[in-house]
Amino acid sequence: MRVEANRREFLRWLTTAGAGLAAAGVAPALFAQEAAAAGSDVVVVTGATVVDGTDGPARPGSAVVLVGDRIAWVGPAAELPRCAGARVVDGRGRFLVPGLWDMHAHGIDYEDIWPPLFLANGVTGIREMQGYEENRVTRDKIARGELLGPRVVLASTILDGPVSLLGPSTTRVGTVAEARAAVRTAIAQRSDFVKVYFYLPRDVFAAIADECRRHRLPFAGHWPYRIRQLDAARAGQRSFEHSFGLPIATSRYRDEFLGRLDAEPFDPKAPRDFFNLARELDRQAAQAYDPAAAARHFAGLTAHGSWLSPTFAVNRVISKPAGAFAHDPRNKYVPREVLDLWADRLPLLAPATPEQAAQQDVYFEAQLRLAGEAHRAGVGLLGGTDCLNPYVYPGFSLHDELDFLVAAGLGPRKALQTVTRDAAAFLGRADAGTIAPGKAADLVLLDADPLADIRAVRRIDTVVTAGRVLDRAALDKLLAAAEAAANRRAGAANARSVRLPVHGCC
Ligand SMILES: [Zn+2]
Repeated sequence: MRVEANRREFLRWLTTAGAGLAAAGVAPALFAQEAAAAGSDVVVVTGATVVDGTDGPARPGSAVVLVGDRIAWVGPAAELPRCAGARVVDGRGRFLVPGLWDMHAHGIDYEDIWPPLFLANGVTGIREMQGYEENRVTRDKIARGELLGPRVVLASTILDGPVSLLGPSTTRVGTVAEARAAVRTAIAQRSDFVKVYFYLPRDVFAAIADECRRHRLPFAGHWPYRIRQLDAARAGQRSFEHSFGLPIATSRYRDEFLGRLDAEPFDPKAPRDFFNLARELDRQAAQAYDPAAAARHFAGLTAHGSWLSPTFAVNRVISKPAGAFAHDPRNKYVPREVLDLWADRLPLLAPATPEQAAQQDVYFEAQLRLAGEAHRAGVGLLGGTDCLNPYVYPGFSLHDELDFLVAAGLGPRKALQTVTRDAAAFLGRADAGTIAPGKAADLVLLDADPLADIRAVRRIDTVVTAGRVLDRAALDKLLAAAEAAANRRAGAANARSVRLPVHGCC
């Protein structure tokens, strides 16, 4: 029998029913006292089927109680007393999943566009892959509650060698001393990890890895071409972005192609040449998959705890002719200066002839298969989009990424776990990624079952971010505000240089 409880009684009830809180390392009595003293909002999502991000079964008819920015209780709705004054979100006929993480994002400092688009699409956390002053400011505003947005895990500036494809926002590191100094700068800037890049010399990379280890700072990024991937993994590289080098490492051309790359200089006058060669060798290698080489590679990655971040969303775009996405309806959310840059730069990467386009289609399918093989071999996968690169959109494109993860063979449950539970595990965040007492109140309420069809992630009724409830009307307002802000920026007065090294994904 459900009884009406006042707020104080309800919080006390949570403490007696709070075994889950204790298990999560939260003292229930203290939790209730603090919540009562702080006057934290109480929100009850009731009647939904909870898909909690673990391997457990979906639980229909559940209730989830949020107190402040935490989940306080999860259980059968029938067992929960009513709480006077609580906000009730009707979850009947709906599906509640953990907030999603885009694990490869850029551009959060488009403060009036990117954060609302992430939230409107259920993305309550991002790993921002290039740090600079503007997005450090945005990160801090969100953390202080001055700006509504997803949680931001922020990279250092990109560390690359003296020769680089990238522009002046990149830190070019040529010596061991500079490498150690760059890591210390990253720490001073409160970076969550160091981002490494293609053209780092061997000794510089080793020094970055060593300095990171000394300071217990993770590092992640692109395959540094001069280092074998398993050596980079052994040195501590936590993730490899975009699948660069994975086709070569798992092919029967492995030694031949790595030898060719070893013999090729980074040309300061034509820095793209090496990248283009490596990309073409990857494409060829993808058609020469070698199960034995792959097994060794995957075992090495797993042993060293290195994950793969395939970023299918951006890889799909660069596999298509440059004009293919010019009329994507989501372009209305993108400032003119960014659309102009996209149109200008994509031809550097996109196939130019029908033959090349056909080759790239085959290559993209191979990338899906490779990720599936890696997953089945036990390698951790991340779900990231590379938004802000051409025609990759904040929030929206993570839904596309989920489609691709399913197409890679993960299935809907594992795909969803990849961008929730697994993302949190990768980041070492015990407070995120699943729906359980003590976890952050980051949730998405869907109108359809994502385990039946992952496309249900697009059918969003409500998003909860750090305990704040955004219902459908609020989400539509966010979308409208983002669109208006993108249009306002059409005037040159608001334009700024886009901090995006569009050359092949940053
Ligand atoms: Zn990137």
